[in-house]
Amino acid sequence: MNPSIDPSIASHTLRMGIKKKIGLVAHDHRKSDMLDWAYYNRDILMSHELYGTGTTGGLLSEKLGLPIHRFLSGPLGGDQQLGAAIAEGRLDLLIFFWDPLQAQPHDVDVKALLRIAIVYNIPMACSRSSADFMISSYLMDKPYDRYVVDYGKRLRE
Ligand code: PGA
Repeated sequence: MNPSIDPSIASHTLRMGIKKKIGLVAHDHRKSDMLDWAYYNRDILMSHELYGTGTTGGLLSEKLGLPIHRFLSGPLGGDQQLGAAIAEGRLDLLIFFWDPLQAQPHDVDVKALLRIAIVYNIPMACSRSSADFMISSYLMDKPYDRYVVDYGKRLRE
């Protein structure tokens, strides 16, 4: 551990492989943006393992032919399934085009997903430009040890 970091904050690392497990979600008014972005980045996305909420995943599969593991639709529990996958170390990155102009019936699930992505320090892109920077990072083709704070230890103290 970096000696300048408070030693009471324990941490460990989780390794991401070369092939990243990427979660993809877009709210309804952002789905066309997601499709357009994914079309542009189709070849890169093809070389990774993709997971998506029901409708987003269905569109990416039908329109672009991307192989994708589909969870339930977001409002029916798909966001929570993505969150569980992050907590269990089954997802490495999240690309989440959420709608900044419209409240969602499942806003609490959206907030929970954003929160759990931070707890587990997974890279998360919520806008098209940040998704561009993420997907073009040289780390996409390398293993990466992700630093995860042991909040459990902190809570027990
Ligand atoms: P959907 O879910 O892909 O099933 O539309 C996205 C969301 O609203 O979280």
